[in-house]
Amino acid sequence: MIVAIDGPAGAGKSTVARAAARALGFQYLDTGAMYRAAGLAADPVSADIRLEDGRVLLDGRDVTADIRTNEAGERASVVAARPEVREAMVAKQRAIMAAGDWVAEGRDIGTVVAPDARLKVFLTASPRERARRRAAELGTDVATVLADQTLRDERDRTRAASPLQAAPDAVELDTTGLSIDEVVARIGALVPS
Ligand code: C5P
Repeated sequence: MIVAIDGPAGAGKSTVARAAARALGFQYLDTGAMYRAAGLAADPVSADIRLEDGRVLLDGRDVTADIRTNEAGERASVVAARPEVREAMVAKQRAIMAAGDWVAEGRDIGTVVAPDARLKVFLTASPRERARRRAAELGTDVATVLADQTLRDERDRTRAASPLQAAPDAVELDTTGLSIDEVVARIGALVPS
């Protein structure tokens, strides 16, 4: 079974998807980490990207920390606009999730990677709230994060290849003002048994 969690940067996808996977006993796939690693690669299409025990390996090198900067997020959204990069990532993601139960988070899980997902959630939050969360995570100021986030959202939403949008059958969940536990409980209640 696949649970798809999509949405813009800072909507709380990673925290929520990780917690939901734990609560359901499913494995967790962070597709953003794959695009972030691709953004650091000399050749994003043929790069060897692996997710192992919470670590991210790029051509055998541990890039777990390197991919978490604002700049790495920016580079990820640039390579993610290239159709041949998306094709390579989607193929890898489908192969990873071919067996077992998964909570996968990203931008195109419900629309492209797993259109048959049993549950699709589209997480949103107000731009200011999203920037505030990211700034707290990164230890930077909200204004800088908000400016970068606006640029990245715009690029993710307007690219020709798999633009960020909710699948028609996704449940939209606005996380503004909700705690992680509240969001996870709502998702748990939506998962068909
Ligand atoms: O979610 P995260 O911020 O780690 O993703 C980084 C970037 O990777 C996003 O801004 C987006 O451009 C790209 N991405 C994507 N499709 C996904 C996951 C991430 O295009 N499934």
